[in-house]
Amino acid sequence: MIIVHTPFLWVEGLTFFPWVFCRENNPPVWLLNHERIHLRQQLETGILLFYIWYILEYLVRLIQYRHRYRAYRNISFEREAYSNDKDLTYLTKRKAWAMLKYL
Ligand SMILES: [Zn+2]
Repeated sequence: MIIVHTPFLWVEGLTFFPWVFCRENNPPVWLLNHERIHLRQQLETGILLFYIWYILEYLVRLIQYRHRYRAYRNISFEREAYSNDKDLTYLTKRKAWAMLKYL
């Protein structure tokens, strides 16, 4: 994981394998763990599939919820990351393709 301080970022953190862009200079531990979970998801899906799936699921959730933030929070990748980012041991026990449980 390569952390890049990006003060002009419009979100707290953004992962684009292998980089993690963070708005804050000293990002909180939970945020780094959240982005680490995304890195694992990206590796599993071959990176390109992650972004295609992410965008398509966002559009489906947008139709479902008719609300941009709720659509984003309900993307399976985000559901998995937000549900487990406070658990710093999560990635040591996570099974492959665990995001499928959050569909
Ligand atoms: Zn996320």
